[in-house]
Parts: sequence; C-alpha cells; structure tokens
Amino acid sequence: MKRREALKYLSVTPLAGGIVGATAKAAAPEAAMAAQARGLVEDLGIRSFINAAGTYTAMTASLMQPEVIQAIQTSSRKFMMLDEVQDRVGEKIAALCHAEAAMVTAGCWSALVLGTAGVLTGTDLKKVAQLPNVDGLKSEVIVQKAHNTGYVHALTNTGIKIVEIETPADFEAAVSDRTAMTWFLNAAANDGAIRHEEWIALCHKHGIPAMIDMAADVPPVENLWKYNDLGFDLVCVSGGKAIKGPQSAGILMGRKDLIAAARLNAPPRGGNIGRGMKVNKEEILGMYVALDKYIKTDHEKEWKDWENRVATIEQAVKKVAGVSTNVTVPPIANHTPTLTITWDNRVKIKSQELIERLRMGNPSIEVMRNGEGVNLTVFMLEPGEAEIVAKRLHEELSAVV
Ligand SMILES: *Cc1c(COP(=O)(O)O)cnc(C)c1O
Repeated sequence: MKRREALKYLSVTPLAGGIVGATAKAAAPEAAMAAQARGLVEDLGIRSFINAAGTYTAMTASLMQPEVIQAIQTSSRKFMMLDEVQDRVGEKIAALCHAEAAMVTAGCWSALVLGTAGVLTGTDLKKVAQLPNVDGLKSEVIVQKAHNTGYVHALTNTGIKIVEIETPADFEAAVSDRTAMTWFLNAAANDGAIRHEEWIALCHKHGIPAMIDMAADVPPVENLWKYNDLGFDLVCVSGGKAIKGPQSAGILMGRKDLIAAARLNAPPRGGNIGRGMKVNKEEILGMYVALDKYIKTDHEKEWKDWENRVATIEQAVKKVAGVSTNVTVPPIANHTPTLTITWDNRVKIKSQELIERLRMGNPSIEVMRNGEGVNLTVFMLEPGEAEIVAKRLHEELSAVV
C-alpha cells in the first residue's frame, strides 16, 4: 500500500488504533505515541500549511519553540497547585517586564476582561460574585473614539459602559464618580488626539487606573516594559503572537493590588466572571519560557533574517514581467517587514485566484489578499520556507503570463 492509501485505510477502519498499537508493540509506549501523533493531523484530514500571512488566530497564529514544548511536556507529568504556579511565574514575568506583578491569562482578550473585572471589584468577594451586574459599582471606562474598536467587547463583558471621548477637554468632562478606569488601544496610538504620556497624566490627575492593550505590539521587544515604565496601571499582551507562547495564553501585568484583584475573578476560584478563562499549568509555564526566550532573542539578527527572506521572495517574483513589489513595516502592531506583491495586466490572474492556488498547492501556503495584490509576512516562516514560498509564487505568476 502506498502511504497515502495506508493513511486513508487507517483513518476509516475502526481497528486503526489496534493496528498502530500492534506494529509498535516492541517499542516503548512513548515512541508508539509519538509515531501515532506524527500522523494525527494527516489522519484527520486537517490541512497544515506554510504561514506567510501572519499571526492570525484563525490560522493558529504562531508555532511554539522547542523550549516551550519541553516546558509543557515536563510540567504535564506533575501535579501542582495552580495558584502557586501563577505566583512564581507572575513574579518572574513581572521582573522581566518592569511590572509590580503579573499573571498569565487565556490570551490578551482574557487579560482585558480580568483586568477590568479586578478594577471594578477590588478584593471585595461580594463584588466579584455580582459581576457582570455593576449596580453600586463604578461602571464607566473612558476610551478615545479612534480606539473604540471591536476589542472593547472584552471590557463590556464585565458590565461596564464605554464613554467615548476625543480631546483632553472631553476627557475632563467625562470624568465622574462613575469612572472606573480608562482603556488605551496601543495599535491606534497614532490615530487618537491624546498620546500615551498625556493620557496617563490625565488619568493619574483624577486617580483613575489606565489600562493599555498592546496585544500584537512586539516587536520591538522594549514594548514589553515601555508601557509599565510609562506608568500604565495595567498592561495586556498576547502570548501566542510574535512571542510564540501558547496560542491560548496572554499576560496581564501592572499594579500589585490590581493583579491580586484580577486573580480573584479567575480560576482556580469559581462563581466569578472569569471561571471559563482557565489557563492550565502547562500554558502558564510555557508562557513564561516563551517570554524569557523571546526577550533573550538576538532581535537584530532576527530582523536581518526577515529581510533576507523578504528579499528571497522579492527576487523570485520580480523575474516575472509585470510583477512589482513593495516592502513596508507597520508602525505599531505586527511591526515586521511586510511584502506587497502586485502585477499589471500582463499577469492574468486575480489575487483571490492566486491565493487559492497557493492554498491548494503542495505544500499549501497561506498569504493575505491586499486588493488586486497579495501581502506576505515572513516572521512566522520556519527555516527554509521562504525559498519554497518564493518558488511557488514564481511558478504560479509565471504560469499565467
Ligand atoms: C489579538 C488581539 C487581541 C486578542 O488577543 P488574544 O491573545 O488572541 O486573546 C486583543 N487586542 C488586540 C489589539 C489584538 O490584536
């Protein structure tokens, strides 16, 4: 039987487990399990692909590094008290990022929810139990209009209302005894009238905690401590984007009293708004190891690697008459070299058709549509994949000239 047929056979027969078990009988159970796991994605008929698109949740965002997998594997063989894992890892993350305290959350989204909940409840367990009912609590969050995107749903989950403002004068007018905190979307920092320093000054003048969402905003690595140093009271980060931690992990860091309050709204405690945002010990430890590794990465060298990958792809596609390329770097979120490929009417293919062909090809490749062209990022590519992407793009573009 050819491998493909064998896989098909194994995936339809109810004896599949038995057959795999029998052939691997002499081997150690770990080896048998590893052999089985290798075929798992294919056996289930799940398409895997080269990710030249970026850290998109729908595409499972990023791949964990071997050190992270190792931490997950080792810790998975031992019981621990979940709170103690959070305590120790929180101290380490806080020290790495110049924060007073930190906790690992179920993604940046959960950091936004739990951070907000902590501000509303403090350490009052009656208030913890009452959310998302905000009767008797401060229940308004001030947000600049340009920052008021779909991500505020994380905040409104807790029962709060968003108060939209534009100018410093609006801010002053919006502050009342109902104001619980403020929220700053770092990705939109250049779009709002009020920038970081002025925002923090306004918040602290009125004694209001300031939260910042910088989910996708490394690189640069310094952003991991920049906003703590600036004085934001709560900083929320995604763990599974460029940091390459577990995709379902994130970080909430900041003021010690607020982190303690946020933890009361999360597992292992129940009867609270965050009970469904569980993070297991493997993810908490994996998050720490990923962060530590990310901080210690040679970022200059990594950037050079990215530029080389982009150049490899650029050179290949530009051999096709009518194809143009352009490299940009988004100023804040997903701040990595981004390659835009466009073509004139000598190249007879629509961007969506090219995307489909790359997707259906072997190996499958994902890129993003950008109007009549396509966009690629290279920071999620594994070594050697830039050459494959270059070759496939050249094949498809030159085939339709
Ligand atoms: C990705 C993202 C989130 C959500 O982060 P997760 O880690 O996927 O939960 C929140 N805010 C912004 C701005 C993001 O880009």
